[in-house]
Amino acid sequence: MRRSLTVAVAAALLAVPAPAALAGPDPSPPAVRDFGNGPERNDVAAGVPEQAAARAAAASEAQPYGHSRDRGYPRWTRLPLPPENPADASIKLGLVPYHGIAPRLNALQQRSDRVSVEIIGRSYQGRDLYLVTVTEPESAARAREQARIRERIENDPAAAARDRGLAARYKAPIFINANIHGNEWEGTDAALRTIEQLATSTDPAVAGLLARTRLYFNVTANPDGRVNGVRQNGAGFDLNRDFVTASQPEARAMRQAIIDTQPVTLLDLHGYVNGTLIEPTTPPHGANYEYDLFITNTYANGLRMEAAVNGLGYTPDKDGVEPAQIPFRDSDEGWDDWPPIFTPQYAPFHGTVAAHTVEIPLEVNEPAYSEEPVEELRRRAAVNTDVAAAAVRAAYGFVRDRHERLIADQIEVFRRGAAGEPARTVPLGIVPGFGPEDVYTTTFPRAYVIPAGAGQRSATAAARLVDHLIANDVRVERARSAFRAGGRTYPAGSYVVDLRQPKRGLANVMLEAGADISPRVSAMYDISGWSHALLWGATVEPVESLRAHTEPVRAAAPTGSVPRTPGPLALRVDDAKEVRALNDLLAQGVAVTWAGGRAIVPAQARSAARTVADRYGVAFTPAGTVTGTVTGSPLAQVRVAAAASADELFTLCELGFPVTPVSTAVLNAGFDWSATDVLYVSSGLNHAALNPAARAALDAFLAGGGVVTRGRTGAAFNTAAGLLTATTVAGNPDGNGVVRVVSGGATGGGSPAHSFVYSPLWFTGLGPEVTVEQAYAADGPLVAGHWRPRADGSGGGQDAARGQAAVVSGRDERGAAVVLFGTEPMFRNHPKGLFAQVARALYWSSSSAGAAVTTP
Ligand SMILES: [Zn+2]
Repeated sequence: MRRSLTVAVAAALLAVPAPAALAGPDPSPPAVRDFGNGPERNDVAAGVPEQAAARAAAASEAQPYGHSRDRGYPRWTRLPLPPENPADASIKLGLVPYHGIAPRLNALQQRSDRVSVEIIGRSYQGRDLYLVTVTEPESAARAREQARIRERIENDPAAAARDRGLAARYKAPIFINANIHGNEWEGTDAALRTIEQLATSTDPAVAGLLARTRLYFNVTANPDGRVNGVRQNGAGFDLNRDFVTASQPEARAMRQAIIDTQPVTLLDLHGYVNGTLIEPTTPPHGANYEYDLFITNTYANGLRMEAAVNGLGYTPDKDGVEPAQIPFRDSDEGWDDWPPIFTPQYAPFHGTVAAHTVEIPLEVNEPAYSEEPVEELRRRAAVNTDVAAAAVRAAYGFVRDRHERLIADQIEVFRRGAAGEPARTVPLGIVPGFGPEDVYTTTFPRAYVIPAGAGQRSATAAARLVDHLIANDVRVERARSAFRAGGRTYPAGSYVVDLRQPKRGLANVMLEAGADISPRVSAMYDISGWSHALLWGATVEPVESLRAHTEPVRAAAPTGSVPRTPGPLALRVDDAKEVRALNDLLAQGVAVTWAGGRAIVPAQARSAARTVADRYGVAFTPAGTVTGTVTGSPLAQVRVAAAASADELFTLCELGFPVTPVSTAVLNAGFDWSATDVLYVSSGLNHAALNPAARAALDAFLAGGGVVTRGRTGAAFNTAAGLLTATTVAGNPDGNGVVRVVSGGATGGGSPAHSFVYSPLWFTGLGPEVTVEQAYAADGPLVAGHWRPRADGSGGGQDAARGQAAVVSGRDERGAAVVLFGTEPMFRNHPKGLFAQVARALYWSSSSAGAAVTTP
C-alpha cells in the first residue's frame, strides 16, 4: 500500500520484518528508518544482502528490452524455469509462487495465440521480470503500423490530432502493474487469472476487445519481495518511491516498459486498505500534469472500478469487506499525487490519462501473515484476488468504451507540450467536487540550460543528469555554437532542454525547483520536494528565451580527462563519480594524499588515473599548478562499519567504500574492529543496549577512530558515546524537502547550495571543538517541500531552523574525528549531488582521527 487512511491499517506497516534471506548479521534490524512517528514515510528497511558492494557495483542490469517493433504477435518466449522454492512467501496464502509463474505463462503461450511473454529485465536478486501482452494476433506489418502510430502520437501530436482515422486503426494500450510491493501479492494472481480468461475466452466481446486494445501485464514488478514476503526489493528499496531516481533495475524496467507501451490507462495494484481504495487522489495535485484531462478520465474510470468492486457482493458483515473509497471524493487530504515517485504519478508524463493506485481490502501481510490461521489468510487472499480482477476488468471495459476519447486525450497531452502552451488552470467543477483546493499550476520556463565550461559546477554531474533525462525519454540537445539566453552567454557544447517537447511535464517536474506547499495542506503522504537541478550536483538554469543552433543528443559527451603536464594529479571530490574513482585508486593501493578536499595522486599512478578518468568520466588537473607544494595526510581505503538504513548502505557501496553492516546485536556478539576505519551510524545502533564487552571494544575503537552519523539515531549515539559537545534539536519529523544551505569547512566546502532534509535536525550548544560545516540558510531554508511547525504547538518548523547548524564536525579529546549530519544526503539514493559530502566526511574523519588535535 501507499499509506492507509486509517490508523489501524497504518500501524501494521511499522513492523516490516527483515527477510531471512536478506538479513544482515543483525537478526532484528529496525524495520523502518528512525523517524519514530508516521507509518511508511521513508520506509527503506534495513538489511542488505551479503556482497552488497559487489552487487551495487555490478547492479544486475536489465537484459536488452525485447519489445521490438519489428515483430508481430504473438511473441512466444519459452521462459526459463526458476528452481522450485518451498520457502516462497506466496505459498502460505495459496497464491502463485514466483517459480510457478513461468510454467503457467509457458503453458498459456502454447494454448493461445493471444498471449506473448517477454523478459524485460532482472530484479536486484536476479529474477526475470515478465511482461505479458494480450491482444489478437498481429502480422509484423500490423505491429509496425501500431509502432508508427504510437510514435506519431508522441512525436507529431498535432498531425496525430488532425488524423480522424487514427484512433480506429490504433489499439489502445492498457498497462497493469502488479505486486510492486512484494508483500501485496494478489495483483499478480489477478493478472494471471485475467490473462488466462482473455486468452481462452470464446466470447465475441473479448475478441472485439483484443482487436482494439493491447493489454500489458507486468506480472510481478517485484519478484524479490514476492518471494521474501516483504515490501522492498532485494536491495531493500521501495520500488514505488524510485521513479524519479531509478536506482533499482526493477524501476528501470518499468520505466522502459511504460515508455515503450505508452499506455492510455494504468493500474498499479496494491494492498491493503479496507474498503478498497481507488485513486484519483486528494490534494495537493502534481502541477506538471495536464490535470484537466487526467482528472476527467481518472475519476470516470475510478467510478467504474468502484462499481465493479462493490458489485462483487462482498459485505462488511459476511466477508469483512467495506465498500470501496475514492480519496479524491471521500477524503480531504493525506493521499496526494504531488511527487512523481509512484507508478501512477509517473506514467502520466508518458501519456497515461487514467492512472490509479488500487488498494485491495483484506490484510494478509504483517502482522496478519504470521498471526492469522492459514484458512483465514487464504480466504482473504481469494477475496483480494477477486477485487483486483474486478478492477482490471472494469478498467479494460472503460478503455473499450472510451477508446477514441482516451487516445485523443493522450495526443492532447503531447500536443500541448510540443506547442509550448502555458499550463492550464483546471476549471472548477470539471468533475464533481473539483474545487479551489484542487487547483495547482506551474509556470514552464522556455528551456533549461545545462551549461558547458566554467559556468558548470560539475561536468561529470551534468553528464549524469543528461543521461538520466534521456533515459526518461526527455529530449536533450547540445548547442553547436555559443548562444545568448537570459542575459548571459553559454558556450558551445552546453546542453539545452527545450520545454517545447511532448514530455515537457516530465522534464519540468525533474528540473524545476519545486514549491513550498506547507501553507496549503496540513499533511503529506510522502516526500514533498525533490529537484534534480538542485540536488544532483549539476548547474541547471531556466531561461525564458531560446535561440540556439542545437543538435539532438543520444548520450552525454565523455567528461573524463587527465592533463598532459607531468607531475602529480589532483582530483576534486565534489561528485559521486569522483568518489568512486578515488575509491578505485585506493583499492589498487595508489598512494593518495588528502589535501583540503582534494585527492592528490602521484605522477607514477598516471595510467591508473587515466583508467578511472575514462571509466567514471572524472577530470584530473595538475596538482602543482593549483596549490604549489602539496601538503596533506596520506589517505588509505576507508573501511566503513555502518549501522545504516538500506538506501544508505546501497549508496555507500555504490560509492566504492568497503562496507560492513553492523548493529547493536552485531557489536554485542563481539565485533572485530581491526578492519574498520570509520563507524557510520544512522539506524539500528543503540549505545545504551551495548553489553560491557561491546562497549569496551567500541571505546577502544573511538580512541582514535572516525565516526560519521546521520539523523536522530546518529545524534543520540554521539551524545551517549560522549563524542562532540552538541545539543540535537529535532524539527517537525514530518518536515521534508529541498533546503538552502551555507557550507564551509573540511567536509562542507565544495557542497552544492542546496541539501535535502527529512525529519530535519540541527545542532546547538556547540563546544569549542566543534566546527559548523553546513548551516540552514538564515533567510529561510525551505525551497520546496512541506515543513510546518509541529501541530502540538512545540515548534520545529522551518523558521526555527534559520541559520542553525545542519552538519558539524570536530575531534573529541580521545582523538575521535566525528561528523554529524542533520540533513539526509543519501536519501533513497536520490540526491546524487550530496553523496560526495558524505564521502568527504568519511575521508576527513578517517585521515584526521588520532592525529594531533587541530581545527578541521
Ligand atoms: Zn503498496
